[in-house]
Amino acid sequence: MILQASAATDVGMRRRVNEDRYALVPDLGLYLVADGMGGHKAGQLASQLAAESAVRAAQALEGAPVSLAERLRQVVACANRDIFTMAQAQPEYSGMGTTMVAILAGEGRVALAHVGDSRAYLVRDGRIRPLTDDHSLVGELLRRNQITEEAAREHPHRHVLTRALGVRASVQGDLIEMSPRDGDVFAMMSDGLTNHVSDHEIAGAITNTDDLQQACNALVDFANDRGGDDNITVVLVRCEKAGVA
Ligand code: MG
Repeated sequence: MILQASAATDVGMRRRVNEDRYALVPDLGLYLVADGMGGHKAGQLASQLAAESAVRAAQALEGAPVSLAERLRQVVACANRDIFTMAQAQPEYSGMGTTMVAILAGEGRVALAHVGDSRAYLVRDGRIRPLTDDHSLVGELLRRNQITEEAAREHPHRHVLTRALGVRASVQGDLIEMSPRDGDVFAMMSDGLTNHVSDHEIAGAITNTDDLQQACNALVDFANDRGGDDNITVVLVRCEKAGVA
């Protein structure tokens, strides 16, 4: 399998610090976005720890005799434990946490895990399909048909997460594994993008150009043009050639 990846991150128009983080590690087949939360520097630290810990864990698990999805589950568990341990040890970091959406590619397959409201989509043949459900209060309400899409966008607690990395001693991430096809694009992003840009517009930006970096930059510009209320991060991973070789 041959993958190509690009990323962009931006502080946005309102925030002073960027608490989002991404990692692209082609050698490990690991690509992720994390969106930290917590006072002072805690949010930044949480997303940084998530990325670093995930990379370390993926390295340690290379060649382990377990499925790709199981390896990714362990990567997420390690990141959770490292953030939680740091938050317990240092009062100023108490309660910090982060979202994480990550893919791990290998042996012709892609595993995807997520915790929180950072999202992943699959763009295939010009069509976009969500691969994640937001672990947020409004996400849960939407799935139970208890509020409308419009009400969700204006909801005062729309940023409240029902699951996050580092907040508890263990975490349950959502996990899937799939076989990608040639030309598939996996798009991972923080809520600073999806709060402003629709699924349809995300698909448009990706299918408009063959240049992944240009697509990433266009998406960030899109969110900033509409107010840039939050940090904005996007990672695009395209499957150039599917299969095991
Ligand atoms: Mg955010």
